[in-house]
Amino acid sequence: MYVICTDLEGVFVPEVWINVAAKTGISELKLTTRDISDYNVLMKQRIKILAEHGLKLKDIQNVIAAIKPLDGAKEFLWWLRNLTQVIVVSDTFAQFAEPLMKQLDRPTIFCHNLVIDDKDNIVDYTLRQKDPKRKVVQALQSLDYKVIAFGDSYNDISMLQQAEIGILFCPPENVIADYPELPVVHNYGDLKQIISKYLLGG
Ligand SMILES: [Mg+2]
Repeated sequence: MYVICTDLEGVFVPEVWINVAAKTGISELKLTTRDISDYNVLMKQRIKILAEHGLKLKDIQNVIAAIKPLDGAKEFLWWLRNLTQVIVVSDTFAQFAEPLMKQLDRPTIFCHNLVIDDKDNIVDYTLRQKDPKRKVVQALQSLDYKVIAFGDSYNDISMLQQAEIGILFCPPENVIADYPELPVVHNYGDLKQIISKYLLGG
């Protein structure tokens, strides 16, 4: 029995921090793991910038609520959910994912958590676990499931490599170059074709 593990940002919705940077006009928030490789340093810096601008969780959630899923995302996700179980495995935070999950009709999501104080300030974050994407696939495999996984970037690689079927979805060129062994698709139609092979036998 196959289940699906999928990334969120870059697959169903645009990159959240890039949109938050654009909509708040705070360009320092555009920095990603490509600019600062240490995720902890990057997140602490983001939290500091939000505090400096007096932005609370609600402000960021309002910005995120204006982000629309990618074209065709919701329909594709429902196509998948009608075929088998789908788990969105993301490195975002539950409080940020909330407005997006609502727009996607609330699929199951495993992600991290922000620490919020009693004045709605974002003061810290907690990661769900170490190597979180691979661990979800391993856990499902321990339950005798086979996993079809897809995602767009470096943080998905461990999940794609651990899965029985791992697929890169609309990845940047550098990811394709670094992992030439992984199949690449550029739209939902092609992804449907691959998944159909395993789930529908055709
Ligand atoms: Mg992604």
